[in-house]
Amino acid sequence: MTIKKIIKKAAKNKSVTEEYYLQLYKTYYARSRVEKENLWSDMYQFNGPITVNGVTKQVEGKKIQAFIKSHLMTTQRQRCCYCKRYLVSSGHARHVEHVLPGSVYPQYVFMLRNLAVSCVECNLLKTKDVWWALASTSLKYPIPDKLRTCFHPNIDTYDSEIRFVRISTNHFSFSCYYGLTDKGRHLCKELLSKVSHKELILANDTVMNDAITKVANFSAGFTASSETEKFLMGIYDYLARR
Ligand SMILES: [Zn+2]
Repeated sequence: MTIKKIIKKAAKNKSVTEEYYLQLYKTYYARSRVEKENLWSDMYQFNGPITVNGVTKQVEGKKIQAFIKSHLMTTQRQRCCYCKRYLVSSGHARHVEHVLPGSVYPQYVFMLRNLAVSCVECNLLKTKDVWWALASTSLKYPIPDKLRTCFHPNIDTYDSEIRFVRISTNHFSFSCYYGLTDKGRHLCKELLSKVSHKELILANDTVMNDAITKVANFSAGFTASSETEKFLMGIYDYLARR
């Protein structure tokens, strides 16, 4: 599947047809290749006129991101790309994850290969971590061989790298992850152990858990660049680390 096919399928029979979304997407894609800036949030906020064959329509950039997210949710079977928790629960609200972070690799932010959907916890705990030692200026997405040292949700097979068990009772939830390979162990060390630890602490503190869930749910619809979300994410991060 390509972004073009995702947009074509999602915009079928809509008042704003695929040509308009594709034109907007191509514009941002092209800009991301020359401007040293993460434009993902810029596209989300775009809401303006696009002209195709002399006909102008109002196009929202956030719709394109919604199409991509919906596609990723389906291919990932509604689960986080890292911790595999189900994302249907609003408590684990989903974010589009840039596997190679947009802050370091802005040229990849619109490339499907670099996109996955993660839960809020994984997204925030991973933040701007760069797991690979790669040149940050290359326009070509790294070949799998260059990414072999760490787990990449769109290249590696989860079941070959990690095993996990999740126990949940009326009042308690616990997840244990086990790395089968060096990549799997790296993911456990750098991210999944933190997710598990946080879940374990929150399970024993329902007041804190409720507060964090409320903030996370409220902020889930904001863009990553808005000041409101930065503020809310600051509160969320503070609460989650306690
Ligand atoms: Zn997760």
